[in-house]
Amino acid sequence: MSQLDRRSFLKLSSATLIGISVGGVSLHALAQEAIKLDDPLAVAMKYVAKSTTEGQTCGNCMHYAGDKDTGGCAIFQGKLVAKAGWCAGWIKKP
Ligand code: SF4
Repeated sequence: MSQLDRRSFLKLSSATLIGISVGGVSLHALAQEAIKLDDPLAVAMKYVAKSTTEGQTCGNCMHYAGDKDTGGCAIFQGKLVAKAGWCAGWIKKP
C-alpha cells in the first residue's frame, strides 16, 4: 500500500467510524419512547403526564434533561417524560 493509499484509507476509516457513531446516537435518540403511565416504575413513582402539584413539574426538576415538551429523566432512563409531568422523585432544579 503506497503512502497516499494508506492516508486515503485512514481518512475513509475515520469518516466511517464517525458516521457509525453519529448514526448510533441518532438511533438511540429515536429509540426513546414516552414512559407509559402503567409502567411499574411510573406507578411506583406516581408519575403523571400533567402535574397537579403547584410549582412542581418535570421541567423544573433537577432530574429532567431537555428543553422541549418531553425530555429525559435520570429516574426513567431510556424513556421520555413530559415537561409538564411530575413524579414523587421531584427535586427542585438548582
Ligand atoms: Fe419528572 Fe419525576 Fe423525572 Fe423529576 S424525577 S423529571 S418529576 S419524572
